[in-house]
Amino acid sequence: MAKELVIDPEEIFVGNEKFVKFIKDEEIQKRIAEMGMEIAREYRSKFPIFIGVLNGSFMFLADLLKNVPIKCEIDFFKLSSYGDEKISSGKVKLIKELNADITDRHVIVVEDIVDTGLSIKFIKEMMNEMNPASLKIASLLLKPGSLKHNVKIDYIGFEIPDKFVLGYGLDYAQKFRNLKSIYKLEE
Ligand code: 5GP
Repeated sequence: MAKELVIDPEEIFVGNEKFVKFIKDEEIQKRIAEMGMEIAREYRSKFPIFIGVLNGSFMFLADLLKNVPIKCEIDFFKLSSYGDEKISSGKVKLIKELNADITDRHVIVVEDIVDTGLSIKFIKEMMNEMNPASLKIASLLLKPGSLKHNVKIDYIGFEIPDKFVLGYGLDYAQKFRNLKSIYKLEE
């Protein structure tokens, strides 16, 4: 018989790996509302452009911007991902370019998670070449224990331990992005 469909399950199994609910939907939404209001206050007269890093940030960007009630624009670009692995390849490549002209614009890059910091370092260097008026980074998650590059993250949702997580935009081999909560690998 087919398994029952469950929205927001307590645990997820991928083969024999078990992921347990770690940051609940309600906690995520509460924190995002706080981040949104903070960003809105700072940028209310600046007509900023929010730039989401695909694919992982799509859910965070959508929920964040529902909480930023100011005039703004939105665009996306895409970097090469982990592939189907849980460990970074250590290389970053641009695979979908930004369409917007960010010269003299106030830019806020929206990321799902900062792990080693390599992607954000790459993004900052790439964006700074386009001469924005200002550049800040918002990330829902940060793993301070994994940081290898000296990058400043201006808005952080949650600091988490150095464990692989999925859900709420974050994938495991492209799956599980549609979960409402964030799950952590149980070891
Ligand atoms: P960094 O370049 O900072 O090492 O890694 C950033 C990118 O790696 C994120 O945008 C995300 O795509 C991926 N990543 C890092 N840690 C995790 C994790 O725990 N789970 C998932 N699903 N992706 C991660």
